[in-house]
Amino acid sequence: MARLMGIFGGTFDPIHFGHLRPAYEVMQVTGLEQVRFLPNRLPPHRQQPWLDTETRRQLVEIAIADVDGFVLDDREMKREGPSYMVDTLADLKNDFPEYNLCLIMGMDAFSGFTQWHRWQDILNLCHLIVITRPGTDKPDFAEFSDIIESRLCRQAEALVESQQGQILLQSVTMLDISASQIRQILISGASIRYLVPESIRERLEARQI
Ligand code: ATP
Repeated sequence: MARLMGIFGGTFDPIHFGHLRPAYEVMQVTGLEQVRFLPNRLPPHRQQPWLDTETRRQLVEIAIADVDGFVLDDREMKREGPSYMVDTLADLKNDFPEYNLCLIMGMDAFSGFTQWHRWQDILNLCHLIVITRPGTDKPDFAEFSDIIESRLCRQAEALVESQQGQILLQSVTMLDISASQIRQILISGASIRYLVPESIRERLEARQI
């Protein structure tokens, strides 16, 4: 029986319940042995993060500390230059050849997937697990729809039946929370209670912003 490993990359600027609860549900529903959280260092298509690299890493570590199966993986933060997921996945495949890797992303990230660096190679390295997110419907991939549509599936069994290349659409509890919203609330001086774990709220609200 194939062993499944979830890979959850993001800026996590900061990590919040919209990351944690969906990742937890995916782990339970699909039978992933673990979910590795990979904070990125220098997202190629985005502005520089608000929190510094070390703070984002620490907050992820604190948020997942007591959850069996959740693991912090800081390899992208340690690497020089932009963190391309295709390189990260090749590296992970090398380290964990016994696992089928499953790259977890929200529907919004999936909408831009065909603009990712060497996205077709990504589908030769892992499966995708695309989680529902408020505000984003299933995208229409236009010229690439043939490649994408033929890989779509709704049953987690597909992740063990082949080693890579399937795209599982997974419904999760819809939490309309984003890191940008949290940053705005903090900047305004209001509280982010109930949007993030208490340990994260305490640290962020105690900062001089
Ligand atoms: P920002 O608001 O700064 O753009 P974000 O909240 O989208 O940040 P990221 O770190 O960019 O957080 O997201 C990492 C991954 O988590 C992405 O694949 C994203 O789609 C997914 N994600 C983030 N928030 C949610 C949410 N509320 N529900 C489902 N998926 C989410």
